Amino acid sequence: SATPATLSAISNGAKNGVLVKGGAAMESLNTMDILYSDKTGTLTFGDFRVLNYEVPEDILNEVVYMEQQSNHPIANAIVAAFENRNFKGIDTSEPVEEIAGQGVRKGAIEIGKPSTFIGYPDKNYYLDKVVEENTTIFVAKSNEIVGYISLSDEIRNEAIEAVAGFQKEGIQVVLLTGDNEMVASKVAKEVKVNDYVANCLPEDKIKHILKSQRNKKVAGMVGDGINDAPALANADIGIAMGSGSSVAIESADVVIVKNDLGKLLYSYHLSKRLNRIIK
Ligand code: ADP
Ligand code: MG
Repeated sequence: SATPATLSAISNGAKNGVLVKGGAAMESLNTMDILYSDKTGTLTFGDFRVLNYEVPEDILNEVVYMEQQSNHPIANAIVAAFENRNFKGIDTSEPVEEIAGQGVRKGAIEIGKPSTFIGYPDKNYYLDKVVEENTTIFVAKSNEIVGYISLSDEIRNEAIEAVAGFQKEGIQVVLLTGDNEMVASKVAKEVKVNDYVANCLPEDKIKHILKSQRNKKVAGMVGDGINDAPALANADIGIAMGSGSSVAIESADVVIVKNDLGKLLYSYHLSKRLNRIIK
């Protein structure tokens, strides 16, 4: 069971916006060698705005209907951008399937990240149209791309400071994102992480964590999405954003209540001080 010093550190953390689930997590937080971080909702607000789009009207109705069934930040932005759509012609008995880290599908209609539309004939035509520094999703019907939607998101300022703070402690910070190469490199440069990996599927995020662990590194992972939950569960220290999906929060050892990565750095320092007391 936890020592009084550990319990007091947990309670200090809780007062400062970080819930550490148990003594072991509190005592081991300071052993972290590498911190993997998701992008959307973690380093950024996950509050997207639609910048531009080109989707046929009837299919846009389908897109909005489908995204209403998803909780992804991109889905929320699309639903907010296109209000008062007409759903009369839509077959609502057909299920909407969400593919974590990729997009949504309903019958012949697919919405999701461009890199998943492998071999679609008109892909390059649409890739040429979009500004690659923006998060972009493609819309396809019957294996043909029929449109795109480009969105923007904003970086959390406190994330930039926190990343620098972890690096000062000798911790490497690596961005793992499902988004495209251009968006990933732009965010990586702005937040000044040590490295980044774009186009990550949920299982890719796990692979990077397992690789660090094989190299005897204690790996932390911070994320917010359903797609991050498996990685959070596999990390030595899983950290979820408080606004994250419930499955991410359940999978994590640590929860950052108000999404401020600076609070995680604060808890790291608590853990460091704690270990000087109990060792
Ligand atoms: P991140 O790792 O940056 O948090 P995700 O893994 O959640 O990103 O999503 C990766 C990509 O998958 C998004 O950039 C988007 O292209 C696509 N995607 C995921 N969910 C949806 C959705 N509901 N609608 C459209 N595209 C989606
Ligand atoms: Mg995310």
